[in-house]
Amino acid sequence: MSDKKWVYLFNEVAQAEEYAGSWDNVRGLLGGKGANLADMTRAGVPVPPGLTITTEACNAFQDSRQFPEGMWDQVLENLKTVEQQAGKKFGDPNNPLLVSCRSGAKFSMPGMMDTVLNIGLNDEVAKGMVELTGDERFVEDSYRRLVHMLGTVVMGIDDEHFEEPLVAYKQQKGYKSDTEMTAADWAEITKAYKEVVRQQKGFDFPQDPYKQLELAAKAVFDSWNSKRAIDYRRREAIPDSLGTAVNIQTMVFGNMGNDSGTGVAFTRDPQTGENVMFGEYLINAQGEDVVAGIRNTSKISALQEEMPEVYEQFFDITERLEQHYKDLQDVEFTIEHGKLWMLQTRNGKRSAKAAITVAHDMVMEGLINKNTALTRVSPEQIDQMLHPHFSISDVENARTEGRYFAKGVNASPGAAVGRIYFDADTVEKKHNEEKQDVIMVRPFTKPDDVHGMLAAKGILTSEGGATSHAAVVARQFGVPCVVGASEINIDMNKRKMSCNGVTVSEGEWISLDGTTGEVFVGQLGMTTPDLSEQKELMTLLGWADEVSRLQVWANADYPKDAKRARDYGAKGIGLCRTEHMFFEISRLPDVQSMIMNAEETQKMLNGVERLETALAAGRLEGRSLNEEDKKALQAEIDAEKDIIKNSPNAQAYFKALEKILPLQRGDFYGLFEAMTGLPVIIRLIDPPLHEFLPSMEDLLTEVATLKAKGITEGLEEKSHMLDVVTGLHESNPMMGLRGIRLGIVYPDIMKMQVRAIFEAACDAKLNGFDPHPEVMIPLTGHVNELKEVQPTLVKIAKDVMAAKGVNVDYKFGTMIEIPRAAVTAAEIAEYAEFFSFGTNDLTQMTFGYSRDDAERTFLGVYVDQGILVKNPFQQLDRDGVGRLMKLAVKEGREVRPNLEVGICGEHGGDPSSIEFCHLIGNNYVSCSPFRVPLARLAAAQAALKHG
Ligand code: PEP
Ligand code: MG
Repeated sequence: MSDKKWVYLFNEVAQAEEYAGSWDNVRGLLGGKGANLADMTRAGVPVPPGLTITTEACNAFQDSRQFPEGMWDQVLENLKTVEQQAGKKFGDPNNPLLVSCRSGAKFSMPGMMDTVLNIGLNDEVAKGMVELTGDERFVEDSYRRLVHMLGTVVMGIDDEHFEEPLVAYKQQKGYKSDTEMTAADWAEITKAYKEVVRQQKGFDFPQDPYKQLELAAKAVFDSWNSKRAIDYRRREAIPDSLGTAVNIQTMVFGNMGNDSGTGVAFTRDPQTGENVMFGEYLINAQGEDVVAGIRNTSKISALQEEMPEVYEQFFDITERLEQHYKDLQDVEFTIEHGKLWMLQTRNGKRSAKAAITVAHDMVMEGLINKNTALTRVSPEQIDQMLHPHFSISDVENARTEGRYFAKGVNASPGAAVGRIYFDADTVEKKHNEEKQDVIMVRPFTKPDDVHGMLAAKGILTSEGGATSHAAVVARQFGVPCVVGASEINIDMNKRKMSCNGVTVSEGEWISLDGTTGEVFVGQLGMTTPDLSEQKELMTLLGWADEVSRLQVWANADYPKDAKRARDYGAKGIGLCRTEHMFFEISRLPDVQSMIMNAEETQKMLNGVERLETALAAGRLEGRSLNEEDKKALQAEIDAEKDIIKNSPNAQAYFKALEKILPLQRGDFYGLFEAMTGLPVIIRLIDPPLHEFLPSMEDLLTEVATLKAKGITEGLEEKSHMLDVVTGLHESNPMMGLRGIRLGIVYPDIMKMQVRAIFEAACDAKLNGFDPHPEVMIPLTGHVNELKEVQPTLVKIAKDVMAAKGVNVDYKFGTMIEIPRAAVTAAEIAEYAEFFSFGTNDLTQMTFGYSRDDAERTFLGVYVDQGILVKNPFQQLDRDGVGRLMKLAVKEGREVRPNLEVGICGEHGGDPSSIEFCHLIGNNYVSCSPFRVPLARLAAAQAALKHG
């Protein structure tokens, strides 16, 4: 027989520590719940005795679908000790021990796995217990719960089969609530439930307590691989390999009369983070009654009046637990005949707001240090704090227009607008397939509904409280949620809900506010919160900046975005996509004129340049030029220049450039003003030129229509545009004439932009600002491209500064977004003073996946099938794209040790990608202004994790 230890008693935590080596490993071995129960037992907290089957046993079970050798014997043996500790005997009608069987993984997965209570009850034991307790109703109630739970959880019988006889029975008796059920009534229900088991499974409900226990333990192990548990793990990035432990614990009963009760509590408010005990309890009830949110609970503060001594002891214990774990605790307790038992403690799930407030306050209270506080908040939670909420005026208007619908408990903050659907599958389908904004509406939610909750923009329930399933899950995922809006009547059959005479049908819009608990009919406008008002968050982000090695810059095109970025803590602009300004309606005609005349003009300019080069070299087409020839050539050049001067194409081209120049200068001036004292990276024109012109299909149709109708007005212009668009047409435009290639083929555009940048910078400096322009050349693949383009641009910069009589601090650099550029970084760094990884293109070119089409066509399938773990356009692919980046940083810095390195692709706002940028020694990440706060935290967390 294997001597492997699969089972630990709650009072064997020291042995578990010795075996596992660290507390983290103990949590891995016994699960979070088991480890904490053992830890509480050690600390002298009143915990009902019990044992934990390890996660190692779960993993062994998954391989063979059998308990590992020796495990069950150890359970039986240790159960004897539990019997001694509890002073009761399993299966003994004269003094019965009942146990619960609960899952408990290393990381809490609330409601995702299975629990069975009251194991050990059978016909005989029930009789004995009635005699012992004199409380027949309690015993019959407990027994029917066991049959129900074993039936649904262990045997997989649909809940409805148990709901039906209960509802019918209550109706027949005219009962409104369960509290009206008598002992005899519950005995009838137990009988009916046993019949359900017989009918559905073809065998009798097991009377053997050990069989019940074995089945329950297996069901818990099985539930590790239930769909909802797997979905949850994917979402939370919890490895499948951890497994769950099984906790078998002496039952204590909150449903033994009015001196008994049960409840759940948080040591601080998990919604706001305020340092006040928050929770609910029910007198004469069992645990699941509270969590299910079916009965109306009392606030925990009421316990102080109802059972002052118990409350005092409870308060003292929870305070000790919070001091011990140095974090907000979520506890479950039961009072049995006036005696308090603690059933569970764990770090409590909390809203983003609460996470920030609790982390901040605990530093202020001296309970944790700043660095610990930084690990207590996730970048995603910071993101949630910037989510939009309804504008006050919209809410007021909605009220006056009579669109206020209902109010419930404000369970998870944030505003949501969407179409309502009444079941999780439809919610998920409408979201995934039709890309609808959806709000899930249910009487209450169950773990089976999680996939819908994740797809929903918001959740609304008519039952349940602030610790109900809907509330806990929504808070954790940052989905705005209103629960317990009990005025709402939901008609699941007719797929509609109504309140105070107003009816909303499935598919119609509502707006819900998880911060206030209010619900409105229709769509309300949303506004963005002001970060500066969120003092605790600002303080926390200040602490983050103290430890980060990476700076956070922002991608911003306009001064207003730059200003927001700066307010959010950006230390520079990492990418201004200048071409975005070209798209403005007022500018587009000039931009189009520039493009339409570029080719003709450039041809002429190239001709002159060729002749001038020949003249300077004294040779033309392989033959030496004598003085006569040179004179003739000079005359030819002059004539060509005259032609260019008078050419309508060239005139239009230069006029357009002249008109765009001051506009760009104005754009850049605004950026330098907003970012005074900080670097501003301005990228020269990048996209293929056809993007600024109408599509070929549209033009073809327009020209054909004009011709067919015999209309001549505008025909010539449109036909010319069509010719240009046809000429610019490329099969693979993203790999075509764009970026630095434009700088070579049509150099005047980039020259104009550099002039505008430096004129703006000089003007800003003359006006007392402190501009730091960095000119970024996109899409370099070969150093010779830079050699060709950069010196001319640098000369323009110098000329402008000389003409203006001011010097500004500046850099010229390039984007690294082509694999060849990364691989030849050493050569490129000879010219570039900075690198900025354009990881959108770098991912596209490294994988060979079109960034415009891959997500639509196959990437989803790749991720679903696990061919790729993540979408590489969202989370940086460290092994491929990342490896190129690492190489480029290393080799670039070997040539230019002070090379500034950043990232400006979408990955700059993704926490995992930020961590990678930290690891390879980037100076900064640049992301959208809204993501700057979360990136600051992610940068700090990377520094804390890796140094
Ligand atoms: C990139 O390619 O990562 C980048 C920032 O440039 P764009 O997305 O504009 O191509
Ligand atoms: Mg790019």
